[in-house]
Amino acid sequence: MNYSDFYQRSVDDPNGFWADEARRIHWQEPFSRVLDYSKPPFTRWFVGGKTNLCYNAVDRWTGSQGDKPALIAISTETGSEKTYTFAELHAEVNRAAAMMQSLAVGKGDRVLIYMPMIAEAVFAMLACARIGAIHSVVFGGFASNSLASRIEDATPKLVVSADAGSRGGKVVAYKPLLDEAIRMAQHKPDHVLLVDRGLAAMERVPGRDVDYAELREKHADAQVPVTWLESNESSYILYTSGTTGKPKGVQRDVGGYAVALAASMDYIFGGKAGETYFCTSDIGWVVGHSYIVYGPLIAGMATVLYEGLPIRPDAGIWWSIVEKYKVSRMFSAPTAVRVLKKQPPEFMKKHDLSSLKTLYLAGEPLDESTSEWISSALDVPVIDNYWQTETGWPILSIARGVDDRPARLGSPGVPMYGYKVKILNEGTGKTCGANEKGVVVIEGPLPPGCMQTVYGDDRRFLDTYWSNFADQQAYSTFDWGIRDADGYYFILGRTDDVINVAGHRLGTREIEESISSHPNVSEVAVVGIEDKLKGQVAVAFAVLKNAQAATTAEERRTLEGEIMAVVDRRLGALGRPARIYFVTLLPKTRSGKLLRRAIQAICEGRDPGDLPTIEDPSALHQIEGALKS
Ligand code: AMP
Repeated sequence: MNYSDFYQRSVDDPNGFWADEARRIHWQEPFSRVLDYSKPPFTRWFVGGKTNLCYNAVDRWTGSQGDKPALIAISTETGSEKTYTFAELHAEVNRAAAMMQSLAVGKGDRVLIYMPMIAEAVFAMLACARIGAIHSVVFGGFASNSLASRIEDATPKLVVSADAGSRGGKVVAYKPLLDEAIRMAQHKPDHVLLVDRGLAAMERVPGRDVDYAELREKHADAQVPVTWLESNESSYILYTSGTTGKPKGVQRDVGGYAVALAASMDYIFGGKAGETYFCTSDIGWVVGHSYIVYGPLIAGMATVLYEGLPIRPDAGIWWSIVEKYKVSRMFSAPTAVRVLKKQPPEFMKKHDLSSLKTLYLAGEPLDESTSEWISSALDVPVIDNYWQTETGWPILSIARGVDDRPARLGSPGVPMYGYKVKILNEGTGKTCGANEKGVVVIEGPLPPGCMQTVYGDDRRFLDTYWSNFADQQAYSTFDWGIRDADGYYFILGRTDDVINVAGHRLGTREIEESISSHPNVSEVAVVGIEDKLKGQVAVAFAVLKNAQAATTAEERRTLEGEIMAVVDRRLGALGRPARIYFVTLLPKTRSGKLLRRAIQAICEGRDPGDLPTIEDPSALHQIEGALKS
């Protein structure tokens, strides 16, 4: 069968197609209906079926693969390395599940996980899945404000955290940030379960804070039965940036996600049980959820959890892991490859990489030179894949398991089975012709594994994603794209005010809000501009309340540093702009809307075009002037 037929069946006969795919996982009780699309665009997959993500990822493999590696936790920050077999992982997850139950966490309760890349973070995720609690992992690089807004929205009963993470040999204390976030949030978790890595001193709140190791001892022999969940109950919430300052909680189901991941591990990622998968992302991102934790384990593979930088102790570290653990499939991001490209190639050549079959890259546009360089350096094919937190698994790629078409440089590929991808004209809503730029949309129903809704806010789900094109059941990705005459798609950047820094999605509004909290800032505009290494970086233009405070170059530098520190504290270093410029006026329309695209064009040396609605054109000259200062 060729891919066109395979794809066509997936969209013409979703019931038949996905019923076949559903056989890949264990169902405790069979589903009565494959697809329920009676209330579009809400989609329910495998209605009535009962299953469990933890059972499929762990228990199912304890028989045939019990003594085989499941989780390989490596930290070059602390010099630790430990392999857990499926049987050992099973035992740890049972302990963690019992610990959570002892803290009164049960089905449907939310558990917020704010953790570095350590094994306990994976135990906690799987333990939640086991008992039907809904986890919400928050990236460890986020700071108090970001964390507080997520605590507020998810209202967790329990927070699982640690004393600290470490990055490039520098300890990053988590506990003070967490304490501050809980102080700021209206909602208070009942308990905080803390892993003490001995990296940073922790103050404990009596009655609330519980030590992980101590509680683990008490539940060393625990066996916690799996809580079987109806396929459409929720497994997790993962927050992602949008155009407002308030992040959206992407809510995911159980059965659809398990089936989608199991199928993708075969058709797209080609992983086999018993092999090793190494995804360099972080558990705080969707790639980490799908392809560090759930996907590889559901496929019976060992998965590598890596805490550390790609160039420390030297640029050979990833390749030494590939050699030592015979990694067959690796998943990373273009930014990481661009970092490695700057290092001498000897580091790669030192290692036997013969186990590695394919490298997958995602998260941001993959430029030709990066793709060609890594492909020839490793001598393996590189597969680009395009998707979003919202979809949970690739929208565009080349499904090597069922498709032998050649890759086309600059294109992530073609629509994956199940996704009815289209490019629509932004103004008319009509389908674009070949090579005509438009908005990338997905026609409903979304395939299994995609978001169910925005947590606690169906209205926002409809308004944000489904109402951009009147009379059409189209989910907007908010990406510009084109489709060439042969059906390959190309992604041309975001249509909204979301920027992509080193593969991480950030809302310019979120950064603006944290900058505005500085007492001397009255107004600010943040835009993403092109960057050779990170793809994009944030740049801010601020109007001061008291401009006298920044008249000399030195005063401006001091103030810039102060504002950056505010962003670090509130949002996390990830959101810190590369530069903050001071102006007395921002370019706006007469109705007061910020002209971010015009600012961005000037920053990137492009012509901002005609701006008939601009209130005061001199604001643009100020931007030009500030850039030269
Ligand atoms: P996130 O939800 O954080 O995974 O970010 C998703 C966004 O990252 C997409 O909407 C795209 O803008 C961008 N993106 C992800 N993968 C790719 C890719 N392979 N090529 C181009 N852009 C990508």
